[in-house]
Amino acid sequence: MSESNSAATPTGADTSSADAGMVIIGGGLAGATAADTLRAEGYTGPVTIVAEEPEIPYQRPPLSKGFLAGKEGDDALLPYPASWYPEHDVTVRTGTAATAIDPAAHAVSLSDGSVLPYAKLLIATGALPRVIPFPGVELDGVHYFRSKADAVAMKELLSAGGHNLVMIGSGWIGMEIAATARELGNNVTLLGLEDVPLSVAIGKELGAVFAARHEEAGVRFVLPASAAEIKGDAGRVTGVVTTTGVTLPADLVIVAVGVVPNIALAKEAGLAIDNGIQVSGSLQSSDPDIFAAGDVANSLHPVTGAYARSEHWANAIAAGKVAARSMLGRDAVLDDIPYFYTDQFDLGMEYSGYGALTRDAELVVRGSLEKREFIAFWVLEGRVVAGMNVNIWDVQDAIKELIGSGRTVDTQALADPQIPLEAI
Ligand SMILES: Cc1cc2nc3c(=O)[nH]c(=O)nc-3n(C[C@H](O)[C@H](O)[C@H](O)COP(=O)(O)OP(=O)(O)OC[C@H]3O[C@@H](n4cnc5c(N)ncnc54)[C@H](O)[C@@H]3O)c2cc1C
Repeated sequence: MSESNSAATPTGADTSSADAGMVIIGGGLAGATAADTLRAEGYTGPVTIVAEEPEIPYQRPPLSKGFLAGKEGDDALLPYPASWYPEHDVTVRTGTAATAIDPAAHAVSLSDGSVLPYAKLLIATGALPRVIPFPGVELDGVHYFRSKADAVAMKELLSAGGHNLVMIGSGWIGMEIAATARELGNNVTLLGLEDVPLSVAIGKELGAVFAARHEEAGVRFVLPASAAEIKGDAGRVTGVVTTTGVTLPADLVIVAVGVVPNIALAKEAGLAIDNGIQVSGSLQSSDPDIFAAGDVANSLHPVTGAYARSEHWANAIAAGKVAARSMLGRDAVLDDIPYFYTDQFDLGMEYSGYGALTRDAELVVRGSLEKREFIAFWVLEGRVVAGMNVNIWDVQDAIKELIGSGRTVDTQALADPQIPLEAI
């Protein structure tokens, strides 16, 4: 992200005693990071996070990995310890939902009946699991997976092992939950719409690397397939009938078929919506005093010139910072190269780049797909537009430098592990 004009006194916010303050709707990573940045930038007025969940802000990536596996506890979830909020005079209203925004009155109505005024408002309401009305989805034993409460419930069940779990959805989260569930000793079958899992994101050749590792561990795939019906007995799930006509026994089903931006409040308030809350590069919405960040925001990227909505951890942090600076009237633009990561069994992966530009790009691999130690580059018109390292570490800075520089590269050199990335 870039920034400038870091004067000590915010220009866009009223810091007098009449300051109505900064209100953040959503106690996720984007909201918490924005609160931290407001204080770090010297803002001394009221900061309130309205957080619907009963938890102080937490981050979600461990939920499907170490937390679900029982290897990590609550501490791994907290971007800031509980003591941070009172120490920084940040009010977190947990268990309280914002129910309406009145942009003209600069006020937010809350589920406890109170009304909170704001000088500037950040909407960081994240995303919600996509709900598909499969027949039988209401049966006991059918779950979605987004929150800490979901992860706690699943951990309790899966840690005993021996369940017949059918995962509907073979995207990143479906694959991560499948890996963890299998490691905990459960029988896992994955349904997905692609021939090869993850191929929409990283292509068939690389998706196959992840699929092979899952199969090696005993995960079964039924592809391409979805659920035609979830079967039950006495209100409890007993199986899944696939669209390919296979009946899979199941006492547990997890639906992980993507997420949708949580735009209800913003839409009601009349903000511009298009695949999320539409915001500028500095994350300002169609109302100049309302900003949006994280999974809910569709922002204009200055490099690609296109709107993009990211559903990733690093974006929530970067966007939280930019939104806070913009709320303070400073120049800040979300221009980070998108980044995300995953862990599945012993496969660790990091990815940086512009996914939308990879479709027509040439795939260049440095290292060995068979050994599952490689860096994959997507090269479009001679330039690296994305790069992904699997079980090779400390190369993200070099990958981002290659992407960011926009220089033309020799693809033979790119594929040659003997040539340092910095020399390409
Ligand atoms: C299981 C799982 C694993 C993941 N793993 C990875 C990973 O490995 N790598 C990666 O890059 N990304 C991962 N992600 C994605 C990453 O967690 C998200 O991109 C990130 O959480 C987005 O942060 P956010 O603050 O925008 O939204 P959220 O984390 O969704 O937080 C939004 C918060 O707003 C609250 N809220 C909504 N509406 C209201 C309201 N009206 N009033 C008050 N509060 C409200 C919600 O309850 C929620 O707590 C994962 C996500 C999940 C679910």
